[in-house]
Amino acid sequence: MEKFVLGIDIGGTNSKVGLIDESGSIAFREIFPTKSEESFDIYLPRLKEIVDKLLTITGKVPIGIGVGAPNANFLTGMVHEPPNLSWGSVDLKKRFEELFKLPTFVDNDANLAAVSELLWGCASGVKHLLVVTLGTGVGTGIIIDGNVLQGAFGGAGEGGHIEIVPNGRACGCGGAGHLEAYASATGMKLTIKEILGSDVDLALLGTALKSGDKDALKIFGESAKYLGKGLASMATILFPEMVVLTGGVMNAGPIFLEMIRAEFEKMIFRSFRGKIKVEISSLPKEDGAILGAASIVFHNGIK
Ligand SMILES: [Zn+2]
Repeated sequence: MEKFVLGIDIGGTNSKVGLIDESGSIAFREIFPTKSEESFDIYLPRLKEIVDKLLTITGKVPIGIGVGAPNANFLTGMVHEPPNLSWGSVDLKKRFEELFKLPTFVDNDANLAAVSELLWGCASGVKHLLVVTLGTGVGTGIIIDGNVLQGAFGGAGEGGHIEIVPNGRACGCGGAGHLEAYASATGMKLTIKEILGSDVDLALLGTALKSGDKDALKIFGESAKYLGKGLASMATILFPEMVVLTGGVMNAGPIFLEMIRAEFEKMIFRSFRGKIKVEISSLPKEDGAILGAASIVFHNGIK
């Protein structure tokens, strides 16, 4: 019999619930407003209602729940004062398990993205993997010997906050010169302003890159240098088999990827050259978050 899990992605604006099988197929999905001003105690019963409806419609019985949320910690099961939500700190794992009576796992988006690449994406069979999410921010998920690197307290692998430019741009974390301040969509918008002197839309430039537009080549070329440097620093320590890039910034496609590969090869530790694949995620972006959430349940051997 096919096994299903609930994959739940909690974002600052919307939440998404999906019922996903072992092959990564989505049987049903639902999106609803998170209502960031609400407390967790009001959110949870609202979520339960939506889940119950989904299970009634599909007639499926899930074997577990995977939850992706900002500041979620796999080891403690907690979310710590998620930005953009008025929840404070919540023991998400415990509250879900009490209410749904199902084994529940929680983690942050980047770690979940890494697990779903392993299970259903282009990193199938890969044991040492670095996944970098390039959206509003920059997140990293690290797989070592098939397991997510959590560090001593959970939440290890904040590769978006390594310094790539001494005394560089202010970063959202309070630091300066971090990769996120250059390679995120937010950072790239600053690069556009600095180089082109105006606010040209990033998605438009991404499209223009495909036809060899000069401005687009400049912006993406500059961003590829920052990203290549950051990825090479991380990969010099981790020596993964593969680096997978995901998130809205990668909509710019194969030309941007080639630029990143070239910079990465230039910067990587000499004896690692030519050995590490750099790829764009093959998973559907719109469902990436619920696939990621679902993947940790299977990855943790829930049967
Ligand atoms: Zn930072």
